Amino acid sequence: MKKNTSDKMSKLVSLCKRRGYVFQSSEIYGGLNSCWDYGPLGSELKRNIKDFWWKSMVYERDDIEGIDSSILMHPRIWEASGHVEHFTDPLVDCKKCKMRFRADEVNSEKCPSCGGEFTRPRSFNLMFKTFMGPVEDSANVIYMRPETAQGIYVNFLNVLNSSRKKIPFGIAQIGKAFRNEITPGNFIFRTREFEQMEMQYFVEPGGSMQIMEQWKEIRYQWYVRLGIKPEKLRFHEHDEKELAHYAKKAFDIQYEFPFGWSELEGIHHRADYDLKRHTEFSGKDLTYYDDEKKIRYTPNIIETSAGCDRTLLTCLIDAFHEEEERIVLKLSPRIAPIKAAILPLVNRDGMDEFAGKIYDRLKSRFKVFYDDGGSIGRRYRRMDEAGTPFCFTVDSQTLKDNTVTLRERDSMQQTRIPESDIEVELRKRIENI
Ligand code: ATP
Repeated sequence: MKKNTSDKMSKLVSLCKRRGYVFQSSEIYGGLNSCWDYGPLGSELKRNIKDFWWKSMVYERDDIEGIDSSILMHPRIWEASGHVEHFTDPLVDCKKCKMRFRADEVNSEKCPSCGGEFTRPRSFNLMFKTFMGPVEDSANVIYMRPETAQGIYVNFLNVLNSSRKKIPFGIAQIGKAFRNEITPGNFIFRTREFEQMEMQYFVEPGGSMQIMEQWKEIRYQWYVRLGIKPEKLRFHEHDEKELAHYAKKAFDIQYEFPFGWSELEGIHHRADYDLKRHTEFSGKDLTYYDDEKKIRYTPNIIETSAGCDRTLLTCLIDAFHEEEERIVLKLSPRIAPIKAAILPLVNRDGMDEFAGKIYDRLKSRFKVFYDDGGSIGRRYRRMDEAGTPFCFTVDSQTLKDNTVTLRERDSMQQTRIPESDIEVELRKRIENI
């Protein structure tokens, strides 16, 4: 890693801990490798990202329904999906220091850590295994799902019949997935437990490539609406070597992370692979009858598969700015954990009481924060680091004319507005972006 790369990442990691975004999991026990906990601000940011995804993928679309399927599923599902056979990474061990690497990620013949020789590559399945019930034998093996998509495919008929949708339509889901990654790392970029936001769009085979193109654009624009700088986003098309066994065509939306361009979301044309395989393995007919065109076919699937944690990391990296006098997280007000801080200039003369009333009025509608500790400058700096886009300050003039100072995080500009306009102003600034 280049120095300024690791600098930016380590500064971000320490801000995340300092401000309560992300903590090392099990920290007081020395930590658990590749597992992370979201703190008060991090969990709020994550909820906001998931809400924004759900609103734009489910509420704003008449052709998409949401579900929430279970993490543990019938083990045959993972045979049908190809995960038992194909969900592997090539692994090499160093014969000397015993460290393990992904064979496709090491560039030299020798171990980068100690120079030792490698074993021959062997396949390592990334699914976590456990046992269902009290007997720990092979008949009771069950997997922690490595993706949420399969929970959608096996509910295709249930959603189709209960929601009376017609093709084309989609099913969306947000949920945890688990992968026993050989080389997790880069903070929350690659972890063994993570959350996905996936949507599977069922289409007629003819014209499916065009629908994929539409989804590429929709998903790209979603990141722009999230506030990510467009010049840091690009598409990467999978070549033949990269294409997964099920995919007909695949694109990644990539972001330029401090450690290089890397995948943020996959958009895959999965053809009829999934429903055909589940028909074969379950014995249930998963074809679709189009009663207008009078034709029956196995739907093709266009998948949009995003990582929630990776999106959160992207938002933080993109928002992180070091200015001369301050560190500021320029998060979009849409997803910022705290929408506004309510600050009495000083803790007396009735200013604290006035500010307290504003806070009480707003808190059931917005995540707001009341702070009366320390100088006003220090309080603004704390809110800058936390990514809070607006501060409303109550001062002596407030007591005379009922106006407050509205301070904007990014420009640091201050304007006076009537205290009665705070709610309308806040809503306008959060929603009209
Ligand atoms: P990568 O090549 O980075 O391991 P992938 O191609 O295996 O990713 P997909 O199976 O397409 O990823 O998963 C869809 C999305 O889920 C990814 O774009 C990413 O945002 C997220 N994701 C996948 N694996 C992880 C992980 N180990 N940790 C965090 N997020 C992940």
